[in-house]
Amino acid sequence: MLTLLVATALAAPPPAAPPPAASAPKANVLILVVDTLRADVLGTYGEPSPTSPRIDALAKQSLVFDRAWTQYTWTLPSFISYTTSRFARTHGWDYDIGQFDKYQTVDASVPTLAEVLQANGYATSGRYANRHLHEALGFGKGFDKWVRGTDDATVSGAIADIKGWKADGKPNLLYVHVMNCHTPWRPSPTAQSALGTPITVPEAGLDWNDWPKLAADLRPARATQLRTQYEAAVHDADAEMGQILDALEASGEAGNTMVLFHSDHGEALGDHGQAGHNRGVFEELAHVPLFVKVPGAKPGRVSDRMGRLIDVPPTVLDVVGLAGKQPPAWQGSSIYRQTEGPLAVVERGTDIAFSLDGKLKLLATRATGAFAFAFDLLKDPAEKARMKDATAAPLAAIQKAAQTWYAATPQGVNHGTAPKVESKEREDVNAALKELGYME
Ligand SMILES: [Zn+2]
Repeated sequence: MLTLLVATALAAPPPAAPPPAASAPKANVLILVVDTLRADVLGTYGEPSPTSPRIDALAKQSLVFDRAWTQYTWTLPSFISYTTSRFARTHGWDYDIGQFDKYQTVDASVPTLAEVLQANGYATSGRYANRHLHEALGFGKGFDKWVRGTDDATVSGAIADIKGWKADGKPNLLYVHVMNCHTPWRPSPTAQSALGTPITVPEAGLDWNDWPKLAADLRPARATQLRTQYEAAVHDADAEMGQILDALEASGEAGNTMVLFHSDHGEALGDHGQAGHNRGVFEELAHVPLFVKVPGAKPGRVSDRMGRLIDVPPTVLDVVGLAGKQPPAWQGSSIYRQTEGPLAVVERGTDIAFSLDGKLKLLATRATGAFAFAFDLLKDPAEKARMKDATAAPLAAIQKAAQTWYAATPQGVNHGTAPKVESKEREDVNAALKELGYME
């Protein structure tokens, strides 16, 4: 198995090339998700502060997308997109669903990656710290275990899972989802020291709630302070990833395990006058880290096309030799099978954005696809200079691809039912939402 995996990995071409005929059957799959992690706060994506030594070390062994987008800039629709390989427009889950008294269960009609792996002999475990991903709402579909806990419990549970991988002889899927850099931030003293944070963190943690209320001239300084706290929280999440990766190495299974790293959306840190991740599709929310490590594969960077989270499930199936099991309803494709840059789409509220190469970004009205404006992300990474003319050739190509996408992607709805949640449990979830800043 190891020989096959290495042979496949060594032969793994850049995404523009066709994949090798051989595959790596039954490799373990480790998916690491850091909630609310914007790409540019990692060293891998240019951050000068020492936020992410362990994640950066993993990236150096991986195929890294310079620019990848989430498909929705909020946890739940994003999660459904990257576990069922469908655009938000298709799966129909939106910000409203999952909010107070509007719960629905996840539509059961399309298999998740975990369900496909489980049906093909995998032991599947999910460990998550975002209480939004509640089992009663169906987010644990396909997982033998779907265990909610604090970040610490999530990491220690993941380590225990890895230690037990060889016990039953099955290949393993382990999904880990931590929350350290989601508000309220409570970075550890170690992380604050590493990042040189200038303010003391109150017991309740720090968030952005006070920032919009500040006078305009106070905001820049406060934004800098808050960004440093965010970076310290990222440093803690980085240490968590390091602990899990150390456990993988110690288990002797690293050579037979593919590792994916990504987040579910970013975080506005004063960008565009915004804080948190409550609306919009600007890069601070859309641009997520995405990289794939296949043992023995040549590491590299992908800069000529976009990474998309909907491509995670097909890529996993491709690497572990189950490409033929891909459900027809999935809309993504393996990054090893893409012969040209796929259209990347990110949605939120009334906004939608498209890109083909990660350099030009077209924003439109979500309901109709009508062109709104565009950005040249190379010249204008902060997205301040709106381009209003969509007729120039590169933009016209994106516009055309977007129109084709609309025609091929009818608006779907989530067919989930109201969940059976005990009132006590509902209160619990609502309390969690409040803590996460989603409810007034
Ligand atoms: Zn999230």
